[in-house]
Amino acid sequence: MKTYLLDLHPDAYPLEGYRRKQLLEWVFVQGVAHFADMSNLPQNIRAELEQTYALSAFSKVEKFPSTDGSTKYLYTLLDGRQMEAVLMPYQDRVTICVSTMVGCPAGCSFCATGRMGFGRNLTAGEVVEQILYAARDQGWQPSTIRNLVFMGMGEPLLNYQNTLNAARILLHADGLGMSQRRITLSTVGLPKQIIQLASEDVTVKLAISLHAPDEETRKKIIPTAHAHSIKDILESAREYQRRSKRRVTFEYSMLAGVNDHLWQAELLAEQLRGLIAHVNLIPMNAWAGSGFASSSEQRIQEFYDTLEKLGVPVSVRRSRGRDAGAACGQLALKRPADAAA
Ligand code: SF4
Repeated sequence: MKTYLLDLHPDAYPLEGYRRKQLLEWVFVQGVAHFADMSNLPQNIRAELEQTYALSAFSKVEKFPSTDGSTKYLYTLLDGRQMEAVLMPYQDRVTICVSTMVGCPAGCSFCATGRMGFGRNLTAGEVVEQILYAARDQGWQPSTIRNLVFMGMGEPLLNYQNTLNAARILLHADGLGMSQRRITLSTVGLPKQIIQLASEDVTVKLAISLHAPDEETRKKIIPTAHAHSIKDILESAREYQRRSKRRVTFEYSMLAGVNDHLWQAELLAEQLRGLIAHVNLIPMNAWAGSGFASSSEQRIQEFYDTLEKLGVPVSVRRSRGRDAGAACGQLALKRPADAAA
C-alpha cells in the first residue's frame, strides 16, 4: 500500500538535499497533481516516488459554484466517504473553509452536518489536499489561498492530532507557508482541548461557537453543552488568550425565538467581560427539515445594537454560497437543491 505523501510533515518528505526541496516545491508551490509532471526530477526518481507514494486521497470531486463567486467542492475519498470544502474569493483575499471530519459527532441541532452523524476523522493530508485541489481547479498556485478556516464539516478539536498536523503543514515554510493569524480554528467549545491547544506551538486564531449565553438554551441546541459549562468554556478561552495573545471570536447563529432575545445579548456581554472578544452574528442559513428559522433582519440589528452599546465588538457575517448549499450550517447538503427550506 502506498504512503499518502500529503500526510507527511514537510521535514519528513522523501529524497535529500535539493531534490527534496524540488519535490516540496512541486507539491506546495506549484501544486501539481502527478509525479510525472515534476519535470526537474530525473525520470527514475519520479518512477520511484510513483511506486511508493500517492499524491491524492480523492477518487472523485464534484463542484457547485454559487452565484456569489464561491464554490463548494464535494470530495469523495478513497473509501467512498464524502466531505466538503468551500472556496470564497473576496475582493482582497481568498478564503477556504475546510473540513476535518466526514460528518460530525457534536450533533448541533441547527447544523446539517451534525444531523448526518459521525463518519470518520480526516487525516492531515486529506485536510491539506482540500486546499491544493481547489487552487489547482481554479488555475492558481496554492499560495493564492492565504486565509483558511477550520469551519467545514467536523469538530477540529475532536480530531485533535490530525488537525494540528495539518496546521503544521499549512504553516511550515516548506509547506503552504501560511501565517498563523490567517488561520482560524472554529470549535463548539471543548475546554480541555482548548487549554491543550494553548500549550502547542500552533497559535492560530480561535473561534468558539457559543450560540447562547445561558445554559438552558445552549443545552437545547448543542448536545456537548451538557458536558461543558459556559463558565468552563470561557475560562479556557481566557487561557488561550493569555498564551496566544489573540482576540477570541464567539460565533452566534441567530435562531428566531431561540437565542435572539435581547436579554440574551445583555447576558452575553456580561459573560464576555474581561475577554478581548469579538462576536460574530450569523443569520441562520435555512435548510429543509432543520426546524429552525433565522432571526429577522430587524432582530439581528437590535441584538447587534445591544451588544455594541454594551461595548462588545460585534459584526454580522455575510453568508456565502447559500444557493450552492455551501453556507455555514449547510454542509452535508450535497446538491444545492437540498438547501431550499
Ligand atoms: S456546528 Fe460544527 S460542531 Fe456543531 S455539528 Fe455542525 S460541524 Fe459539528
